[in-house]
This record gives sequence, structure tokens and C-alpha cells, in this order.
Amino acid sequence: MSVTDTPLISLRAASFGYADRRVVDGVSLSQGRGEVIALLGPNGSGKTTLVKGLLGLSDHLGGEVLLFGTPLARFRDRPRIGYVPQRHSLSASVRATVREVVEVGRLTRRPWWRPAGTADATAVDEALDAVGLRDREREDVSALSGGQQRRVLIARALAARPDLLVMDEPTAGVDAANQRILADVLSALAARGTSMLIVTHELAALHEVVTRIVCMDGGHVDYDGTPRDYLATHRGHEVGDGHHHHDAPDGPGARTPGMAAIAGDPLPPREV
Ligand code: ADP
Repeated sequence: MSVTDTPLISLRAASFGYADRRVVDGVSLSQGRGEVIALLGPNGSGKTTLVKGLLGLSDHLGGEVLLFGTPLARFRDRPRIGYVPQRHSLSASVRATVREVVEVGRLTRRPWWRPAGTADATAVDEALDAVGLRDREREDVSALSGGQQRRVLIARALAARPDLLVMDEPTAGVDAANQRILADVLSALAARGTSMLIVTHELAALHEVVTRIVCMDGGHVDYDGTPRDYLATHRGHEVGDGHHHHDAPDGPGARTPGMAAIAGDPLPPREV
């Protein structure tokens, strides 16, 4: 990344919350183009509130927030940020094909009165290809598995051709085989230069994708660095050190099978 590149997001002592409740408290963070950040931290540490803040879905309570160089309050180009929310299962009562759901992602990219055109169809095709569901596009979404539905929703976000893809727990509740597929989908996106901010508990599933780790605790950032350094400093918490297996089951030092697996895995070097 060249120094003249404007960060996709830039927070300086930023706080977010709900009405007068400050949940994210004075966070400084910036993300450059092509970076894939895993946002880790225990439950309740403010990860979701932070990403919602970028989308105007939680309240901005202080500090500076720039999106593509523009202050949050003046930012008018929301489609540049694609969002795949947490617990985003599609309702079983939805009567729509896979393609129709992905087409919804184009609605933010054209005036309401203009019918979908070839540019929209191309973007939808590419989004379906990116998640490996082009051959299922005519199927009813309700016929797909939970893991496949996640991919449909990622495709819906990609269809808008966002500059930054924000995902909240994309692999949660997905079985191992489908986690592998999701990780491959995200790796392919990363290889194409897609910038991503991924809230996750399952770093092991995504470690090949991630270029940077940001760890939150109690509304603050308590780690921001490379996956390699993260493992070096947190490794003792996962393997062979009984003292640290304790009270934060979801925490950065949590002894999850995922972290044990990643601690034993060499990380591939990755340039940003
Ligand atoms: P994480 O994503 O790290 O688990 P969250 O950002 O979801 O953390 O939650 C952080 C805190 O914000 C929690 O204490 C939660 O209860 C609170 N919170 C989340 N959503 C709301 C809301 N809509 N209104 C008030 N408080 C909320």
C-alpha cells in the first residue's frame, strides 16, 4: 500500500454505543486497501457495535471517524461498504431464488426507477461465481443449507461491488466442511484484492485469509498487529499453559480448538 492511499476506514479515539451508552470507547484504527482484518475479542467487547458504527447502525459518540476520507456524518456513499450481518439466516418462508436474493444487492446501485440492466446482471453473475453458487442460482434459497445461505448473503453484499466487505461472524454455526468452503471463498476474494473486516471467533478457519488482527476487550483495542505476532504473544495461552485457561471462553486467549489448531499451524507469509 502506498502512503498516499486514503485509508478505507480511519478511526481516531472513536466511540460508539447506543443513545448514551458508550460501548466502544476511544478506539483508533485504520484499514488500508487490500487489508483483511480479523476483529477478535470476548463477547460483549464491542466488535459488533464498532462495525455497526461504520454503517450508521450504532451511535457515533465521539472521536473522529473517516470513511474513504470523508467524515462519517457527511458520508453519503454507503454502498461502498458491503455488510453481512450476524445471525443472518434467511427466513424459511422466503420465496425467492438464490439469484433473486443476490439481485437485491444491486438495488443500492441504481435509482429506484431504473430497471436492472446488463451491468446489474454481470455484477450478480460475478458475485454468484465468487461464492461458488452460480449453478444453484435458480434454486429456492430455503432449499440451501445454512452455510450455503451465508454464501448467498455474501454474494448479495458483493453484488453492490463494495470497496470494503464487513462481515460479522461469517463462519459461526457453520459445520467444518462448509467453514472450509467459506474460507476458500474469502481467500479467493482476498487474492483479488478485496478488503475485508471480519468479526470472528474462528480465527483458525480464516487464518489463511487474514493479514492483520485487531483484538478488542471492554470497548478498547488491546492488540493490533500481524497474525504472526499475535500468535507469538498469545500462543502460551493456547498450548501447554494451564494457568491461562480461564474465565474468557471467547477471549483472545481462549483455549478454543480453533486457536490450538492455528497455534500449531505455520502461517503463510502474506504481503499487503
Ligand atoms: P461483541 O460484538 O464484541 O460481542 P457487542 O458490540 O455486540 O459486542 O456488544 C457490546 C455491548 O453493547 C454489550 O454489553 C451489549 O449488551 C451492548 N449492546 C449491544 N447492542 C445494543 C443495543 N442495541 N442497545 C444497547 N446496548 C447494546
